[in-house]
Amino acid sequence: MTENPDFTIKVLHVASELAPLKKTGGLGDIAAALPKALRALGADARAVLPAWSGVLDEASERGYLRKKSLGRLSVALNYRPYSARVWKVVCEGVPVYILEQPELFGADNIYPDGIGADAALPFIFLSLAALELPETVGWKPQFMHAHDWQAAALPAALRWHKYYAPRSNSDYDTIFTIHNIAHQGIFEHSGLEGWGFSSEAFNAANSGSMEFYGHLSLMKGALTSCEAITTVSPRYSLEIQTPDYGFGLDGVIRDCNRKLGGILNGIDRDIWNPANDMLIAKNYDADNLSGKEACRSALLKRLCWQDDGRPLLAFIGRLAEQKGVDILLEALRTLTEDARLIVLGSGSAYYNNRLEHMERDMPDALYNFNGFSEELAHMVYAGSDIFLMPSLFEPCGLSQLIACAYGTVPVARATGGLADTVLDVEESRDGNGFLFCDYSADALLGAVKRARRAWGERDAWQEIMRSAMKKDFSWEASARRYIELYNDILTS
Ligand code: ADP
Repeated sequence: MTENPDFTIKVLHVASELAPLKKTGGLGDIAAALPKALRALGADARAVLPAWSGVLDEASERGYLRKKSLGRLSVALNYRPYSARVWKVVCEGVPVYILEQPELFGADNIYPDGIGADAALPFIFLSLAALELPETVGWKPQFMHAHDWQAAALPAALRWHKYYAPRSNSDYDTIFTIHNIAHQGIFEHSGLEGWGFSSEAFNAANSGSMEFYGHLSLMKGALTSCEAITTVSPRYSLEIQTPDYGFGLDGVIRDCNRKLGGILNGIDRDIWNPANDMLIAKNYDADNLSGKEACRSALLKRLCWQDDGRPLLAFIGRLAEQKGVDILLEALRTLTEDARLIVLGSGSAYYNNRLEHMERDMPDALYNFNGFSEELAHMVYAGSDIFLMPSLFEPCGLSQLIACAYGTVPVARATGGLADTVLDVEESRDGNGFLFCDYSADALLGAVKRARRAWGERDAWQEIMRSAMKKDFSWEASARRYIELYNDILTS
């Protein structure tokens, strides 16, 4: 790709995932879709991604990979150099630099369980390597846009790193996006010195330091060091300022709220669009819903279920407390009295065991797929009737947006991005789903009951489906907000 000289905004997105090369959740979708949407608006947005195992193979199979690497970069960590080969791929028009460093990025499980300092090393490397990248690749952004704790050491390094702070502090403005404040990158602080950070970075007397109850919080360091903070929905930017949602950082967020704003995520309509999705049985759109019926039949067939007149409910997401799995499990028996449920989830073995157990009990009402399957996800979004999102908290949530695009009507708890994107059909003529407030199985069952009843009235239901499908959850409006933010920083 040749560089467009008209680009005024140059931004490097730094994230640990980027779909389709690596994805464990919404972060992977966003790290790919946001730069793409920014480029469509004329910004020169690029991304950097670790070569986790399989990433280079995937890039090569998709024909994204250039034959020759761009060279190597090196970062000093723990008093030795860690070097990475830098590859360039063009992923849906977005230049993505991939860092090949097998020693740090070789794990299958990319996120650590423990808090030992060494567990942070791959992410410290990613953050510091992003600062080395411009020299290696010959392209220099004005903005470093770091996503979540995995890239949080980048803004912090521009403030406290003995080498990078004096060298590049004035070179880059940094934006930090919180995708989920529940995961903050908390580690033992013993690593800091070896990573090159000054002792000021952990000076508890300084309320802006990375010190967090005796440990190191990478996210706190980014929040207090960056130029601007965004969350992935407006509602979430308010929620995290409260103790219930701030996971201990609510005070820090309140202190930083002058530079905080919420910008809603979108979905990539080139990927999530029933009108041209190659992974579903038949294409359809809001004006012709007949294809959805075919998708429903195909899904039933795949699950070896006959259509018995019950609606198909679906849950696609991480099996984690955040996603409301506890109340879903509690509600399950009542829920499946007059509906069937498909669960596509990965994560906690505890939840999966409980689901497997219940599936054995009622194989005709519950289908549990444990694992991550993009292909099955497309089939389930297209073939189901109602989508469940009973989250305890939800920074934005992409699944309900995707479900809407496929005319699969969401039943969601009114929290975070769910409250920003789902409008209850009883509250508004162009409602696109069913909301409940209390975090309880009863409240979930109440909302499902309302949805179940509405589903029984075919014409009215089709209107709700259309209303869901017509909501504009594309990236364009959100990408414009990011451009405004970059421009505001440039002119401030
Ligand atoms: P998260 O909190 O995990 O980021 P989001 O709703 O923002 O939740 O994004 C979840 C993304 O991951 C969606 O694209 C969803 O379709 C996908 N996803 C989640 N679990 C699975 C799974 N088991 N198989 C396939 N896709 C999944």
